[in-house]
Amino acid sequence: MSQLTVQLHEKVEKFLSGKKKLFINGEFVESKAQKTFETYNPATGEVLATVFEANEVDVDLAVKAARKAFDEGPWSKMGSAQRSRLMYKLADLMEENAAELAQLETLDNGKPIRETTNADIPLAVEHMRYYAGWATKIVGQTIPVNGPYFNYTRHEAVGVVGQIIPWNFPLLMAMWKLGAALATGCTVVLKPAEQTPLSALYLAELIQEAGFPPGVVNIIPGFGETAGQPLVDHPQVDKIAFTGSTEIGKMIMERAAKTLKRVTLELGGKSPNILLPDADLSKAIPGALNGVMFNQGQVCCAGSRVFIQKKQFDNVVADMVSHAKNIKQGAGLHSDTDIGPLVSSTQQKRVLGYIEKGIDEGAELLVGGNNPFEQGYFVSPTIFANVSDQMTIAKEEIFGPVISALPYEDLDELIARANQSEYGLAAGLWTRDVAQAHYVANNLRAGTVWVNCYNAFDAASPFGGYKQSGLGREMGSYALNNYTEVKSVWIGMN
Ligand code: ADP
Repeated sequence: MSQLTVQLHEKVEKFLSGKKKLFINGEFVESKAQKTFETYNPATGEVLATVFEANEVDVDLAVKAARKAFDEGPWSKMGSAQRSRLMYKLADLMEENAAELAQLETLDNGKPIRETTNADIPLAVEHMRYYAGWATKIVGQTIPVNGPYFNYTRHEAVGVVGQIIPWNFPLLMAMWKLGAALATGCTVVLKPAEQTPLSALYLAELIQEAGFPPGVVNIIPGFGETAGQPLVDHPQVDKIAFTGSTEIGKMIMERAAKTLKRVTLELGGKSPNILLPDADLSKAIPGALNGVMFNQGQVCCAGSRVFIQKKQFDNVVADMVSHAKNIKQGAGLHSDTDIGPLVSSTQQKRVLGYIEKGIDEGAELLVGGNNPFEQGYFVSPTIFANVSDQMTIAKEEIFGPVISALPYEDLDELIARANQSEYGLAAGLWTRDVAQAHYVANNLRAGTVWVNCYNAFDAASPFGGYKQSGLGREMGSYALNNYTEVKSVWIGMN
């Protein structure tokens, strides 16, 4: 890998220079215990920044600030148009700082600058704008009940929301969570992932600059057990929204049950990506490959089980392998990088462990499977053939650039096998036959089905999982339901 020669933006350099503080009640503060942790550049393994670490004392302060902003105002008493204006202002500020945010995200997460510039940051901006629009459009119903009554519903903010997000799309995940919460009038304590806290802290500066009242959004970097858990347990938090692993999601749901918090979960997946025999292979092959390699495979909806009809199997797989060999891997900051390093050495070890397991269980490694460089947390694009449904690599979420190619014979067998997973987040399908497309889409048990495309996203379209992939939907009008309580009001008219 060539050495990094990219100049950092002035604002990014300045941002990285001091110890990063927590954002509580509209101010940047040190953690009460004065503890800090380090975040690393995954392309080099070098320390990127030192960050104050929140523990339960800081969580309590953040929750109290959010509680006050909700219970006493000004947030909850502000008109929805005013809330909307602040959200639009924040989106504008994010857009003005897009280049800085993209660079920071690439530095902290490792993902290619091309992706942060063209996907993560613009999608994050649009997400905030989309929900800024919703703030003024949340309405209840008037209901024609029997008797001398006038009955109507109010969709009221659920209250203080604890939001816990992962490291794979740090800023975008923050937006997925903040958009609907702010539009509905909730206040928020957001815990970014310990691997990637920086863009959320940069965002905090923009939230302050936009003029959000103190306590509306609090951002507390820290670890799962010492900051995430106290947030889940806190009796003054009304709802938890979590994106992360299924294992932690289940634990959160159990803990949140003690205070009966509302819970939404966006969890793991083992999504099928299906090539029907009539598919346009010139699109389907690179499409299926990108469906896994995008973001180094660190995507909950990665189409990591690629189903190919038996007769075409060898040719298609050979073509996928030659495409995989052309993927340019390197440091995210280089403009020609297609895929970067994984986020951390832990993730790298985890993914390499799965690859070893694949080989041990008898799958055939066709390409990749190692770190092509001497430094950084890279894993090269990897394809396995001879995979059976029972193998670990066909069942468990790897969260890395690893494809399991699986042959199938006929359509109904294929659908049954595609659904044979404890997950149900997403699925892909490549075909030119419109009837088949609808038939398969209807029969896949997944929250999203992409036909002749993959990883298409829009703030207006819902996303979430069937089965153990999650609970509730993010994005679109659907996400608003997660952040509102419905109140039925009866007016006697006698
Ligand atoms: P991963 O294994 O990919 O890092 P996790 O599910 O562990 O995914 O992490 C996702 C988010 O959940 C992170 O912000 C992490 O700090 C947080 N987290 C981890 N463990 C807990 C926990 N016990 N309670 C609350 N949050 C947690």
